[in-house]
Amino acid sequence: MNLTERIIQSIRNVPDFPKPGIMFKDITPLLQDVNLSADISKALAKYWSSHGLDVIVGIESRGFIWGNSLAQELGIPFVPVRKKGKLPAETFSYKYDLEYGSAEVEIHKDGIKKGQKVLIHDDLLATGGTAVAAAELVKISGGEVAGFSFLVELGFLNGVERLRNYGAEVHALVSY
Ligand code: AMP
Repeated sequence: MNLTERIIQSIRNVPDFPKPGIMFKDITPLLQDVNLSADISKALAKYWSSHGLDVIVGIESRGFIWGNSLAQELGIPFVPVRKKGKLPAETFSYKYDLEYGSAEVEIHKDGIKKGQKVLIHDDLLATGGTAVAAAELVKISGGEVAGFSFLVELGFLNGVERLRNYGAEVHALVSY
């Protein structure tokens, strides 16, 4: 089995979570398989190693998992993007619309230095709203959005279209 097949086989599909009509892709079984988890980190590092990245930004909370291991593999810093009110030091924040209501995410002001090439990582790309918010925080911080990395992309939601504006590469290990 190749890596894509191993990931698909390990993902747990949970219907109607967190609300009716959503098929939740649960990645926690991947973490229980030590070899698979390590192979994911290595595959991400292999893919992104030639892109001259300076920083990995991971999106709360599942983007922290392989985001940080990718940063370790590449030998570059990891910076978290979190929901409003979680980061303790001075932050930049960005508010965006959800299907119902709005959400706000933050990044530490000293996370990214001007001109740094930043990869944004999360476990899953759905509509793209979360990744766009992270990309806006990178821009506010003075960084350059150099790419978007996901374990899983829900292609039928076409989130990749919303990321096109940034002119950055979008990569997912698995596409549905
Ligand atoms: P979006 O902003 O619509 O691209 O949603 C992406 C964010 O929501 C990511 O942080 C995902 O972890 C989470 N998410 C959205 N849809 C799903 C799903 N079907 N299964 C697991 N996580 C999801």
